[in-house]
Amino acid sequence: MSATKRRVAASVLLQLALVAWGGGSASAIDDYTLPFYNPAVALSFGVDRDRTVGRQLDWTGQIWNDGVPHPGRVYDQHTGVDYPMALRSDVAVARDGSVIDIEGGFGTSQFGAFGNFVLVGHPDGRRTLYYHLASAADGGILVDPGDTVVAGQPIARSGCSGNCSGAHLHFELLSWSSTANAWTPADPLAERRWTTWPGRVPFLAAYVRESNAGTEVIRVGQTITHWVEFRNTGGRTWRSAGAVGRVALATWNPAAHASLFRAVDWPLSWMATVVDVASVPPDVVARFTFGLRGGPAPGSYRETFNLLSQSVRWFDHARLGGFYIPIVVSNMTE
Ligand SMILES: [Zn+2]
Repeated sequence: MSATKRRVAASVLLQLALVAWGGGSASAIDDYTLPFYNPAVALSFGVDRDRTVGRQLDWTGQIWNDGVPHPGRVYDQHTGVDYPMALRSDVAVARDGSVIDIEGGFGTSQFGAFGNFVLVGHPDGRRTLYYHLASAADGGILVDPGDTVVAGQPIARSGCSGNCSGAHLHFELLSWSSTANAWTPADPLAERRWTTWPGRVPFLAAYVRESNAGTEVIRVGQTITHWVEFRNTGGRTWRSAGAVGRVALATWNPAAHASLFRAVDWPLSWMATVVDVASVPPDVVARFTFGLRGGPAPGSYRETFNLLSQSVRWFDHARLGGFYIPIVVSNMTE
């Protein structure tokens, strides 16, 4: 078979494998995630679900007839959710989608209305709006209209542009109302739209340790066992099976390449293993155990891995710490 034909065959197989392994859809109230990374960020004001001036309905269902702001709950006529955070903090998109519009012309702390913003459309027909962002010169806007974005992807940095009295992110979840003939704000807290609480992006991990952090020496044809541990620093529970939250260790750079070190226990040529235990909640350390086989000719190699959630969503490899295994394949016998 020619090299070209081999590549074509491999890509067809890869697509089949992805279809077979992916699938499933997120449940109704697990479909958005908080739009930032820092778990210490706390809500300052939520949406006022009552449009009558002077009367407020907060995200917990409590009604206030006094018209004054209630920190942690609501202020009158507020259309979004406010999260105070330091200038130039990362802002993450709350769901997969595509960027509809941006504004980056304001200074990081400059008056206006929305100030700098990003508006994103989502497959469920809703939109999310992020405003008071940092200036373009401060790296405030990281996306362009038309860009495809993935839940948890950094899209902007926070600022205090527009009508803003202290650095914070104003986040809106918008639904089209045919009666109002306008996009109208929904309340993601009352609707329990968040994937996580407090704020976490869905799928993040931090490297912890390995069975052998040095070079693995494997004889030709021999299989050794290797394990690596990651802390679940994201907001979703990792699972070893099922359609939602399944997490695997797979080859990287390039993504999903067939590994020369595939052992018989690998589910796929590019997937070493799924997480060892059935369920790994946020902040818990999880182990991934798999075989490495001395498949290729003797020599020095390096195999790089990334984590992958169901529906083929790669983790942020830079944040994950660039996990790779130096491997020497040896033809020495014992
Ligand atoms: Zn606000």
